[in-house]
Amino acid sequence: MSDTAQGTIREFEYKAEMKQLLNLIVHSLYTHPEIFLRELISNASDALSKARFSQLTGQASEGDGELKISITVDKESRSFVIEDNGIGMSEEELIANLGTVAKSGTLGFMEALRQQQKEKEIDANLIGQFGVGFYSVFMVTDEVVVETRSEGHDACRWTSSGGGSYTIEKIDRKERGTRISFTLKEDAAEFAEEYRLEGIIRKYSNFVDFPVYLDGKKA
Ligand code: ADP
Ligand code: MG
Repeated sequence: MSDTAQGTIREFEYKAEMKQLLNLIVHSLYTHPEIFLRELISNASDALSKARFSQLTGQASEGDGELKISITVDKESRSFVIEDNGIGMSEEELIANLGTVAKSGTLGFMEALRQQQKEKEIDANLIGQFGVGFYSVFMVTDEVVVETRSEGHDACRWTSSGGGSYTIEKIDRKERGTRISFTLKEDAAEFAEEYRLEGIIRKYSNFVDFPVYLDGKKA
């Protein structure tokens, strides 16, 4: 599975449930689009905790500077980038973590969401509880690119527009960790505004153990 040569782009089909899942997420949580940022920051924070742990236990040989999260936005182009120098993912991990709905949690999430929809009371925390938070990014964008490298593995780029498939290719990337980039949809342009992001970052900062930089400044 991991012998993609550099320059080869492989395409993978999502299972049918993935489309259902993305639909449910986008349509049930659209009143709380800022959740995407909470979920991406919490994933980055998890990846940094894992990196710190592997450094403390001597498993990691790559020394790093400060473990941190960096967010860079551009108002004009509505580009959004969030990067961490955490544990990163290998190609297998990318496929297992971002490409599989059979992942525990997904079906439970869909069931719980359907139940709440019946009761007309959607709990925005549901997505984090069931381990499907990453996909909330499709509330604010049509296409996501994830570039990542974990120690001892080739770096990979994962691209998905949340439709029926995603692609994976090997890339050159020196830094360990993960860079997630996308263009914000027009109706999500507010998330390219620093003051808006600062507010959200502050709101969720209690569960982040690492510094968050916004356009190079500590948020
Ligand atoms: P959860 O965080 O609850 O497991 P998510 O849908 O948010 O569910 O993320 C799925 C998985 O993708 C994570 O468990 C993790 O393995 C992987 N992942 C997501 N973002 C990152 C990241 N920035 N660095 C490393 N792994 C990540
Ligand atoms: Mg998560």
